[in-house]
Amino acid sequence: MSQQVLARKWRPTTFDKLIGQEHVRKALTHALDSGRLHHAYLFSGTRGVGKTTIARILARCLNCDHGVSSTPCGDCSTCCAISDNRFVDLLEVDAASRTKVEDTRELLDNVSYAPSHGRFKVYLIDEVHMLSTHSFNALLKTLEEPPAHVVFLLATTDPQKLPPTVLSRCLQFHLRDLSPDILASHLEYVLDEENLSFEKDALWHLAKAGRGSVRDSMTLLDQAIAHGAGSVLTDNVVEMLGAQGVSEIPMLLAEIARGEASEAITRINQLSNGSPDWMALVSGIQEMLHQTAIAQVADQGINHLSPNEKEAVRDLANLMSPEFIQLAYQFSLTGYRDLPLAVDGRSAFEMLVLRMIAFRPAQAGEMIGTPQSPQAGSNPNQKPEPEPSKSDSIIQENVMKFRSSHPQTTSTDKNPIGEPNIEKNSMPLPKNQSKGAASVSVPGDTISESDSMMLSPVEKISDVDASTVDSGKQYESRLRLSFTPESWIFETSLLGLQGMTASLVNQTELVSVNKDEVVLASNSHTEGLLNELHRRRISEAFSKHLGHAPKIVVEIREMLGETPESHRARIESERLELAKKKFGEDSFVRALTERFNASIPTETIQPRDGDNHV
Ligand SMILES: [Zn+2]
Repeated sequence: MSQQVLARKWRPTTFDKLIGQEHVRKALTHALDSGRLHHAYLFSGTRGVGKTTIARILARCLNCDHGVSSTPCGDCSTCCAISDNRFVDLLEVDAASRTKVEDTRELLDNVSYAPSHGRFKVYLIDEVHMLSTHSFNALLKTLEEPPAHVVFLLATTDPQKLPPTVLSRCLQFHLRDLSPDILASHLEYVLDEENLSFEKDALWHLAKAGRGSVRDSMTLLDQAIAHGAGSVLTDNVVEMLGAQGVSEIPMLLAEIARGEASEAITRINQLSNGSPDWMALVSGIQEMLHQTAIAQVADQGINHLSPNEKEAVRDLANLMSPEFIQLAYQFSLTGYRDLPLAVDGRSAFEMLVLRMIAFRPAQAGEMIGTPQSPQAGSNPNQKPEPEPSKSDSIIQENVMKFRSSHPQTTSTDKNPIGEPNIEKNSMPLPKNQSKGAASVSVPGDTISESDSMMLSPVEKISDVDASTVDSGKQYESRLRLSFTPESWIFETSLLGLQGMTASLVNQTELVSVNKDEVVLASNSHTEGLLNELHRRRISEAFSKHLGHAPKIVVEIREMLGETPESHRARIESERLELAKKKFGEDSFVRALTERFNASIPTETIQPRDGDNHV
């Protein structure tokens, strides 16, 4: 069975069969039925969500022999001709392959001629953002004074690349990615119609792997049918998708949240026996974190998940603070991007999991037993004496240094379905105020030896887990940002800086952070740009973590080490090299180049996110 068969066969031909995209359907049917038509429509959205499908339905609505309406008959000669791709007045152009101005001119030259068969001449330009500047100008001229019998339907995955002059002349519709439940029920419908047997769980896996795209989900369904010799079974699909081990992710995340490093490593060890797709596991982590974050603010946001998944997500929502979810998510993004660069997938995956554990926030339970000196609050000059235990890392030592100036937030109770009060969570509470038995607020400048001890040993945490979790107490929400030179490349993005300030900070190295001062290093150019305004913003950003606004000092250095920006650039170029290498090694590409004596314009190769492991 060839791919795309089902996708083509079940491509909707009327608005009522359209999958999802309710907002577009409503607007267009209303426009058609009330006769308020626009001469240019732009459909944007990711691949396979229905842009050209909608454009073709619209072409049919406009040209059906029975008149303009939102319900074309589907039987007349015009409707049939459009279905069979042989309607002369529907001119389809894939701009990705026709970017020369001559082509567009040629295409637009006969715009002024009346349609030869239909009511409207419909120009469907797919991937319109790929047109050259000259082509855009040619198009723009037509859009400025469109003949009454012409309708332009433009589709793009990247509307930001369109000139504003073109955008302003189009009625724009953004098509949304389809949720897994919509995709799963569509697959179920198709399989029922095709009389093929299936397991529902298998459809969930396919729908998720389709990542919002109907076309991709249908293509995967085709493959699954072939793979399962006519039926779609969960085990087959999981194997086909390389999704072995994905069901372990909630347990793994719970171990990360509890700091159970050795349990997590044991689990990864077991996982590796099934030779899983490590990239798929990282995306699984990403997805689970995303859903957990959603569940914490709006439980109805996870309605599309299967019952098992919902339960797992709610459990995690009770275990993890919103801040930690954000940090772990950030790590999973960089982990996903960098995984192909690692020696092997498993070690990269282990490092990702250990990184999440190393950066997880101190738990409420870890505070228990810390004596609070009543006078301590009045003794702000007392410096903490870090006493790192054997398992302490540099990161943790630095956390200790900072605790003297950190605002101490306490944990917040959660309601039974796991919706924490974000406001409360992120608000520093007054010193010496404690909430609940399992969470104790420790004023930073009273930090004692025993306090410093509790921060470190991961093993100790499990002792208090049961009580803190069972009683529904939340972990302390303070994020364990360490602000060390080593962690700087990961942490700048968590400062919440934007625009120029963020971009400048990304060109700096972190030299040191102490109570009153943050020292950054940069080249003289960046230093010159870091004016008072930017420094104030940076200081404000640090103040959210340090509890007060530090002075921002910028040193000029001739030679800089790796900055967040150069780190990103290095990873980018390594990925590009990898993509070129893989492309060159690809047997199909090699066969092509040998057979046709072809050369590869390597400058056109781009690594695609998520595809580098294929
Ligand atoms: Zn018709």
